[in-house]
Amino acid sequence: MTRQNYCVNRTNLVSCLSTEIDSFNRCISVPKENSENRCKLVPSVSVGGPGLRAELETAGFVFDIKRYAIHDGPGIRTTVFFKGCPLQCRWCHNPESWKAAPEAALRTTRCKRCGQCVQLCKQGAISLDGDLPVTDPQKCTLCGECIEPCPGGAREIIGSQMTAGEVMAEIEKDVVFYDESGGGATFSGGEPLAQPEFLLALLNECRAKRIHTAVDTSCYAEEEVLDRVSEKADLFLCDIKHMSSEAHRQFTGVENTLILNNIRELSEAGRQIIIRIPIIPNFNDDAANIKATAGFAASLPGVQRIDLLPYNRGGNEKARRLAGGIELMQVETPNDQKMNAIAERLEKYGFRVKIGG
Ligand code: SF4
Ligand code: SF4
Repeated sequence: MTRQNYCVNRTNLVSCLSTEIDSFNRCISVPKENSENRCKLVPSVSVGGPGLRAELETAGFVFDIKRYAIHDGPGIRTTVFFKGCPLQCRWCHNPESWKAAPEAALRTTRCKRCGQCVQLCKQGAISLDGDLPVTDPQKCTLCGECIEPCPGGAREIIGSQMTAGEVMAEIEKDVVFYDESGGGATFSGGEPLAQPEFLLALLNECRAKRIHTAVDTSCYAEEEVLDRVSEKADLFLCDIKHMSSEAHRQFTGVENTLILNNIRELSEAGRQIIIRIPIIPNFNDDAANIKATAGFAASLPGVQRIDLLPYNRGGNEKARRLAGGIELMQVETPNDQKMNAIAERLEKYGFRVKIGG
């Protein structure tokens, strides 16, 4: 077993020795060659010798697998949501994807305020805030013992570690639909490029099985990672969130330079790309930013299509469930008139524009 280059664990889950990571989700506290300090969580490792059989043992964190998806690439697809993201967009639709490890969550609307879980938790991780149970993520070991007995079905652990082989077993259930519809598998998140070994194992296996693949990405990844993934995927769905690096930093936590460079690199390498713009009111929906985004997209060889993704408030409810607590921005969903006006502006640049993914 080789020590992973990219430890995606952000927390002190189970026996992980580190809480220090860089903005690419890499562990920065454990020296690479120090076998004594080898990470024990092993979220993304290659096992055994060469070949696909060994690659199927590569493991990563996933928080959902959606079958029959129709918004994440052509045809009918299975979308695999990777857990862990180096960005923290303030409008995020999937805040449960941020943490690169499983985490405890509570559906407050289902909670019956019975207090049983407080007694059940042997770690003392649950306390009451009024009559509402609150979980301390530092104490919770994710043992799961509070989940089954909960009379409201309110408690859950979001995300799990899966091998590429286990994920492939899910993907392969619908090969007949992919063949009929021109669909395939989409790797989304979170950020799939943040777990490169896991992603590469899945892309290689899909290619071997002739399953079309799409990578839905922020494109915030080291060039070396992008180079390795670039040729393996059939389609990239690349987000452009804002053309101002400062605005991008304020609302996502990172600047956009690396992202724009990576998108350009993919397009210049002849990869198939669809640009996706989440339309977030009062952030990136103004005429100047749409014009700048269109200008950038128009300068990329081979980009013909832009998808506009209207802001979706669904992330707020999901954020409230998480034990760690995430505060998202509150804005209204843009109406059809606004979305159509932006689409028309982009069509003038010669793009095919689709509203929705
Ligand atoms: S056991 Fe379930 S229903 Fe009861 S307080 Fe805990 S979360 Fe709520
Ligand atoms: S999963 Fe539930 S019972 Fe287990 S440590 Fe966490 S809060 Fe306590």
